[in-house]
Parts: sequence; structure tokens; C-alpha cells
Amino acid sequence: MPDISASTDQWNISEQAARLHRDALIWDGHAGFAYTGPTDLKELDRWRTSGINFLSLNVTYDVVPWQLTIECISNYRHWVRAHSDTLIQVETIEDIHQAKRESKMAVAFDIEGMNALNGDPGMVDFYYRLGVRQMLFAYNLNNQAGGGCHDDDCGLTGFGREIIGEMNRVGMIVDCSHTGYKTAMQAIEFSQSPVIFSHSNARALTDHERNIPDELIKAAAASGGLVGVTGVDVFLGPKGAVVEHLLEHIDYLVQMIGPENVAISMDSILDNQDPEPPITTADKFWPESQYPGGLEGFIPPEEFPKVTQGLLDRGYSEKHIRGILGKNYLALASKIWK
Ligand SMILES: [Zn+2]
Repeated sequence: MPDISASTDQWNISEQAARLHRDALIWDGHAGFAYTGPTDLKELDRWRTSGINFLSLNVTYDVVPWQLTIECISNYRHWVRAHSDTLIQVETIEDIHQAKRESKMAVAFDIEGMNALNGDPGMVDFYYRLGVRQMLFAYNLNNQAGGGCHDDDCGLTGFGREIIGEMNRVGMIVDCSHTGYKTAMQAIEFSQSPVIFSHSNARALTDHERNIPDELIKAAAASGGLVGVTGVDVFLGPKGAVVEHLLEHIDYLVQMIGPENVAISMDSILDNQDPEPPITTADKFWPESQYPGGLEGFIPPEEFPKVTQGLLDRGYSEKHIRGILGKNYLALASKIWK
């Protein structure tokens, strides 16, 4: 059985925080790996040795051709299977408990943007069976399903509504990060299941189109969903990708919607990966006005233990910290996954 006790000395946090971080279930709701071809995932052990028990790996986004999603899932599933001494491919909630018991990391997938469906509602069930447990509408720009956050939001389309119906039926979490305001509101209203913003910070603290205003934060919580804070520099604040800003966003959300509806999706990437993939349409998906320095900094998984320390320092109860670190996401997935 693998062990993380050797690595806990490197967390550089107090004894109390380390004990809590080791004992709590830690759920990182999104890692933004942009698949461009067969990928070496040995860096996943950086997440596992940072105490993370569940990680949702991105397998595609609207920027790339949908067929690449299939290749990516095949590649990632094969990697997880070949490294079953440390990783578990998630089928059910029980797989996550098993990962925790055995100091392994459970891995599921997420999709950013419904171009990956190739216009076919049948693909929702197909992707679910391959391990996709969360999908968002449009990646920054409008698509067939709805509007993006950096676009003139067209609203939820008929296709988008049909896809929500399928997601509700198969048990895939409906996610509105990267989605336009109008589409997100309509999706929350239409969905029979709770809706989340997997990785979006508070617009009131950092005025960026990828961050969400109070009305969306409240609407997601009212649906029974959650808002996950994210460690991308431009969404965090003037100091960039620092845990201090992440904690500020957590504080803000907790004061507004309570600690039960807040989670973490760091959006870290692999060290051996360029955050800006070599694609010709990049300038449209990441407009210069919103990303003046490009996509630069991300809070790395190694900083995750400092979030636990920071929450303790800010006086959060152990119960609430456990919720934010993972139990809130676990409770939601327990309700929605089939
Ligand atoms: Zn994203």
C-alpha cells in the first residue's frame, strides 16, 4: 500500500493542520490539463502526495476537435489502470472511500464545453460510462448548447436543455463555470439536479469575466449545488496565484452561502505542460483584454496543505474545513452520481 507519511514533512504546516489534512477527504474538483497527445501522467503523484484523494481531470474543452476527447480518455484510463498501486479510476462513490483508505488517489474526468458531444445527446451517457462525472456548457465562447462568459451570451439553447435532461438522467454533474450569466441562470432554473460552478471565484473581489457575481453564487447554492474556488492567477487578485487570495475568495463565499456550499477546484496543470496550447484560435478563447499577460500562474497542488493551515488560522471549525476540503463535494456527488 502506498504511503504519504514521508511527504507530510514537506507540507510545511503545523502539526495540527497536517493531522487534519491527512485525515480529511480532500477533493480537487478540476485539473486543467489540456490534452494534445499521449501524455505522461506520472506527475499525478504530486497531487496524491499533497494529500489529495480525488481529482477530476479535464479531458477536453471547446478549443480542440471533439475526437481528441476519445483519444485523451483512452490515454488517461490506460495510465490509471497501469498505475493501480497509486490510482483508482472512479466508477462509484465507494471508489473514493477506497482510495482514501488505501492512500491512493481516485480519478474521474470532466469536460469543459459541449462541443465534445458532436451535437449528439447520446454522447452524455457514453462519456459517463467512460468516467466523465462533470461537464460545463460553453468554454468562454458561445456554442450549440449555450453562451460563454467571454461572449455575447446567447442563452441556453434547446440542445442545451436536452443535454441537461440527459445529464440529470445519467447522473453527471451540471457545471456552469466558463458559461455566460444568462445561460447559467437558465441552466440552474431548468436542471432537476443541483448545479455547480466547479472553478469560479467571486466577481465582487476580482472583477474578471470568468468570475461570477453574487446572484449566480446564490442561485447555485439555492439549487443545492456548490461553488469551487480556483487557483488561476488572474481570477484571484493582484498578488496572483497565492493561497492568501484563495482564502479571501473562500471567506467571501462562506459568508454569502455558508460553508456547506463551498469547495475547491484548483485548476493546476502539469509542470511539463505549456498552459497555452499551440492553437490558432487561442486569442478568441482568451481575449487579450481579459488575459493581458496570457495564462501564467496556477497554485500548484503542493500548496494545497497550506489551504488547510490557512482555514485553521482564520478560525474555521474542523467540521467546516472538512466540508470545504472535500466533504461538500462528496455529499453532492453522492446525491447526483448514479
Ligand atoms: Zn476551466
